[in-house]
Amino acid sequence: MIQLYIPLNFLGVIYREIKQALTDLEKMFGLLEREREIDDAPDAAVLQVHDGHLRFEHVGFAYDPARPILHDVSFEVPPGKKVAVVGPSGAGKSTLARLLFRFYDVGAGRITIDGQDIRSVTQSSLRQAIGIVPQDTVLFNDTVEYNIAYGRPGASRAEVEAAARAAHIHNFIVSTPLGYDTMVGERGLKLSGGEKQRIAIARTLLKNPPVLIFDEATSALDSANERAIQAELASAARNKTALVIAHRLSTVVDAHEILVMEGGRIVERGTHAQLLAAAGRYARMWALQQSGGSE
Ligand code: ADP
Ligand code: MG
Repeated sequence: MIQLYIPLNFLGVIYREIKQALTDLEKMFGLLEREREIDDAPDAAVLQVHDGHLRFEHVGFAYDPARPILHDVSFEVPPGKKVAVVGPSGAGKSTLARLLFRFYDVGAGRITIDGQDIRSVTQSSLRQAIGIVPQDTVLFNDTVEYNIAYGRPGASRAEVEAAARAAHIHNFIVSTPLGYDTMVGERGLKLSGGEKQRIAIARTLLKNPPVLIFDEATSALDSANERAIQAELASAARNKTALVIAHRLSTVVDAHEILVMEGGRIVERGTHAQLLAAAGRYARMWALQQSGGSE
């Protein structure tokens, strides 16, 4: 009996493992199902990134046809420049990032990278070219190392560590008993919003793509960490095309152009100096933040 009991118990463990793996797969397919709204065109080409010139041309979009979200949004990010998007919550800022990453297709107009409509290229080549640090990072149920290296499969441990150091998360990782082998995600170590955000930043630094999107990339960090990491992000974005959605205006003062969005429209645009001189919405937001207000 004892002889039999052990293998059966062992089988039980395997059974549970398999069942869990199937649950993960279902979840994954659930996710893919949602994303499969977007298909590659039958003749989709591989995106050729030359210098990373990004354009939104008269873009309109609605998640639900009854409720238009974006209206005639046009702007460009010249190669190697940084364009910032600011505005109140619900203005449509993250939607711009989702459209660029092609989680959804535009309803009107088009988005191009180096002249190629992003609907005409394969999603894998598009997503290869773009690094995004989203507002809310979802981690995979896997190790810290896997989660960071996902930015560049095949990266060495040393490369993963260098990215983690730049994202100021290395010391935290090595303070956990299993270090880079610690499991994170829903079933692993619970991380704070700021820790997850720093893992996403490490992933993007490691990926080192030609086009970057930061969607309030440091909003979950305390101000000391934010300042330190902003410097890393600025150096990662140097000479890259970057779309930076910002909460704190002090992080976008140097942008090539700042777009102020409200109700899905660009309501003001210009450099920091131009927008201050215009004494409009941006100038009011700036004055409020300088005086210590949060918005
Ligand atoms: P922001 O990033 O500026 O806060 P978002 O782009 O996230 O704004 O959202 C713009 C508008 O679109 C909001 O009114 C929001 O409620 C709506 N919205 C965002 N995501 C979805 C979605 N998946 N389905 C339906 N509406 C959405
Ligand atoms: Mg947002």
